[in-house]
Amino acid sequence: MGLVVQKYGGSSVADAEGIKRVAKRIVEAKKNGNQVVAVVSAMGDTTDELIDLAEQVSPMPAGRELDMLLTAGERISMALLAMAIKNLGHEAQSFTGSQAGVITDSVHNKARIIDVTPGRIKTSVDEGNIAIVAGFQGVSQDSKDITTLGRGGSDTTAVALAAALDADVCEIYTDVDGVFTADPRVVSKAKKIDWISFEDMLELAANGSKVLLHRCVEYARRYNIPIHVRSSFSGLQGTWVSSEPIEQGDKQVEQAIISGVAHDTSEAKITVVGVPDKPGEAATIFRTIADAEINIDMIVQNVSAASTGLTDISFTLPKSEGRKAIDALEKNRSGIGFESLRYDDQIGKIALVGAGMKTNPGVTADFFKALSDAGVNIELISTSEIRISVVTRKDDVNEAVRAVHTAFGLDSESDEAVVYGGTGR
Ligand code: ADP
Ligand code: ASP
Ligand code: MG
Repeated sequence: MGLVVQKYGGSSVADAEGIKRVAKRIVEAKKNGNQVVAVVSAMGDTTDELIDLAEQVSPMPAGRELDMLLTAGERISMALLAMAIKNLGHEAQSFTGSQAGVITDSVHNKARIIDVTPGRIKTSVDEGNIAIVAGFQGVSQDSKDITTLGRGGSDTTAVALAAALDADVCEIYTDVDGVFTADPRVVSKAKKIDWISFEDMLELAANGSKVLLHRCVEYARRYNIPIHVRSSFSGLQGTWVSSEPIEQGDKQVEQAIISGVAHDTSEAKITVVGVPDKPGEAATIFRTIADAEINIDMIVQNVSAASTGLTDISFTLPKSEGRKAIDALEKNRSGIGFESLRYDDQIGKIALVGAGMKTNPGVTADFFKALSDAGVNIELISTSEIRISVVTRKDDVNEAVRAVHTAFGLDSESDEAVVYGGTGR
């Protein structure tokens, strides 16, 4: 008998019908002779709605209380799912993240898992139950307060439990048939990928392909847990994310030169204007940002004007952290010594990802050519060994993604990608 960890995202359990459909799917896995642990997200757009509600009563809600509020979303779906499974004549028990042994650090709203002690889950499944676990939440080791793992964090809960329980497979069920060469909501000709390496998936996720959360892929790579991303609405095989290529029939799936195009419109750009061009300035700026526990993404420093000896430094960060970053920099204005701050939330990011670009020198040039043919202006550029990304105007992003997808021959000749549910929010 095997142990499977399955995770169902918000769009899969958006309403009572969805919960009943997922319950049937979980029961099928159990009937096939497996022990089943199901991690579940909040119903539909519940998390967004709870955040909106919090912002109506306070413009910057306290992290501890926001976590308390948001974890309620997953509690609703876990209890309903356990009820639906019992209604099908099978035993199920629901558990909060804390009860499931998900132990985190104390950083509210984006805590990191530091340990998983799944004793209660193990006992529950050994006794013949299906264990349902609330995703996206844990408990701080130090403060014992309830924490959340950041948006999309249920993916990480699933992989962390799969690692701690030594599961045979971790299945991530969502509203599309797997990982595609681009977001199927933007590129209808996107192709489903059969297998993708942890490295390429990590880059896609880090650059906005929210089908898997970046931290979840990091965790899976560290513990070498293969992930199967698939639709909860169809019976199709999805995408395997693992260290080694999978076999299909009698042939090995090959590593693609280009895995796909990711995009992200959830970031903003801050420009620190008029910074003295002397050693230590960048260190002070980014220490200020790091002390506020804000993760930044791309950075550029302009050449300083010789006459003034002043330069500008721009960086991108999640929009949700914009206010906090501006406040932190303003507070330290005299320590840093800049002239002013500019905030721009009308930016978008496009990234081309693929291990093959290491050995194919023309890729960067083709990428820029595709953007210029589409009339898209580039504002920032950043590269790694297996990724090129650029910042553009937000309004240009969809067009840019489609242009790059076509230019690299990624368009599917046959089927259109299916999006089964969700609002894309
Ligand atoms: P869930 O609620 O199941 O966690 P998410 O909305 O977090 O689902 O993730 C699934 C969505 O990710 C898809 O509906 C799709 O719009 C988006 N997405 C972005 N990039 C990709 C990609 N490369 N492949 C598949 N889906 C993608
Ligand atoms: N409900 C949380 C969110 O919407 C976590 C998740 O869905 O993974 O971000
Ligand atoms: Mg998700």
